[in-house]
Amino acid sequence: MNSQDHSASGSPQQTSREQAAQDQSSTHVTHVREDVAMTGRCANVHLPTGRTCTLPVRHPGSCNFVGPEDAENIAMH
Ligand SMILES: [Zn+2]
Repeated sequence: MNSQDHSASGSPQQTSREQAAQDQSSTHVTHVREDVAMTGRCANVHLPTGRTCTLPVRHPGSCNFVGPEDAENIAMH
C-alpha cells in the first residue's frame, strides 16, 4: 500500500515528511538488535548513542549499553 516515491528527487510533496515525523513520535518504537536478541540478550538499542544492551533478556534494573564492538562479539553471525 505504500507506493510513495522513495527516491526523493525534487518531489514537491512535503506531506510525506510530516507523516514520517508524526509516525515516529506516536508509535515510540523500541529498537532491538536482532542478532544480539537471538543470543538471549536484552538487545535494546540506545538510539542517541547507538549502543546495545547485552544483559540477559528481561534483566532486572536498567540496561547496560555497550559499544558496537562489544555488541558484535556477542551477536550471532
Ligand atoms: Zn537491557
